Amino acid sequence: DTVTSRLSGFHKLPMEERLAQLGRMFRLAPEELNMLHGVGALQPTLANQMIENAVGTFSLPLGLGLNMMVNGRDYIVPMAVEEPSVVAAVSFAAKIVRESGGFIAEADPSMMIGQVQLTRFGDATEASQKILDVKDQILALANSFHPSMVSRGGGAKEVEVRVLPAPEGPRGEPLLIVHLVIDCQEAMGANLINTMAEGVAPLIEQVTGGKVYLRILSNLADRRLSRAMCRIPVPMLADFEMAGEEIAEGIAQASRFAQADPYRAATHNKGVMNGIDSVAIATGQDWRAIEAGAHAFACREGQYRPLSNWFLEEGHLVGRIELPLALGTVGGPIKVHPGVQAALKVMRVNSVREMSMVFAAVGLAQNFAALRALGSVGIQKGHMALHARCVAVTAGARGDWVEKIANELVKAGHVKVEKARELIAALSP
Ligand code: NDP
Repeated sequence: DTVTSRLSGFHKLPMEERLAQLGRMFRLAPEELNMLHGVGALQPTLANQMIENAVGTFSLPLGLGLNMMVNGRDYIVPMAVEEPSVVAAVSFAAKIVRESGGFIAEADPSMMIGQVQLTRFGDATEASQKILDVKDQILALANSFHPSMVSRGGGAKEVEVRVLPAPEGPRGEPLLIVHLVIDCQEAMGANLINTMAEGVAPLIEQVTGGKVYLRILSNLADRRLSRAMCRIPVPMLADFEMAGEEIAEGIAQASRFAQADPYRAATHNKGVMNGIDSVAIATGQDWRAIEAGAHAFACREGQYRPLSNWFLEEGHLVGRIELPLALGTVGGPIKVHPGVQAALKVMRVNSVREMSMVFAAVGLAQNFAALRALGSVGIQKGHMALHARCVAVTAGARGDWVEKIANELVKAGHVKVEKARELIAALSP
């Protein structure tokens, strides 16, 4: 494998040269480079076929997360995000991690859950038994709606029945929910799961005499978890004129804080999702589905907790992350959006599971960078320098002036639009 994600000095290159370098590395055609550059990536006519009431397209900056190494393989990670510092944070964290051996990651097979809600079923235990008695029939019926998934080795694999206590309210009867566990292979799966869930509902009604209302996938994709970890020797963490031990302690304390306190855990996980959403958007994933799954999973023990944690072990700082990732390399907009196609060519994953491992590692990398800053010098030092550029543009700076005004703002220690306007006025010829 000749591709390296360790592109030293990439951030200092002009944009055209970054593109030229990518073109050489991945043998991208000029049209593909144009797609990454955003030139005509998603034509309004195509957008009009994707959603309703379309009037055009909407753009976001596309950047590359560098230095990423997962299970010994290098990945350049396309990231679509409007927030400054996210791409830099991932690249920075991945650099430290690769120097200590890279991320180790794994992902479950693509098992998803389709839910069928049965009502008016009489006795819950009896109704459950009736459903389980025809389990094989239900599976066969589900699979009959999608034979091609079965021939790929996927399809409906399991039927489970859950009886849930009645929620508070005037109606006392329990709930009966049937789960179809479906292997979606390379797809996120929403459409095929919904088709199967709708398809088996009449049989479930028939054997129980009940009535089915809802039939839809669950976004709590907890059969489809991805995990990543890293182990960084403590001395490698030394920075900001602080010893590695001190930085490591700050990160471990931040992790304890998030474990104990949902107010902190929400922000901790927001940082994780900064990385994951960015790569999800660039690669055409349903990021609302990923978000919903991640936060529901974070709450699985009844208290909202961090998706990752950090601790000290034998002179190393160890970080781990686990979350559901319902991703696809096919389906949805993936083969439709030409920009997504170009982004996937750069990311060069061979399967959806491999993709999920990279996503998990990106989430952990982003989280590491945030905690490292938070537990030491604070987030604003690095963030403000990047934020200053946005402030400069807001105040009207363009071209070379953006960098110039941003630098002045940081120097003045006063990153505000008003101050930027003053500086522009004062420095204008
Ligand atoms: P699609 O239905 O677009 O694509 C999946 C299809 O791709 C499969 O059914 C299969 O069809 C085909 N396919 C080709 N090769 C493979 C392979 N190797 N493995 C698996 N399938 C393959 O997309 P999804 O079902 O994945 O649904 C995702 C979309 O659904 C997203 O856009 C999402 O936004 C949306 N959605 C999400 C919901 C939610 O999250 N709650 C709800 C509803 C929709 P074939 O066998 O015929 O080739």
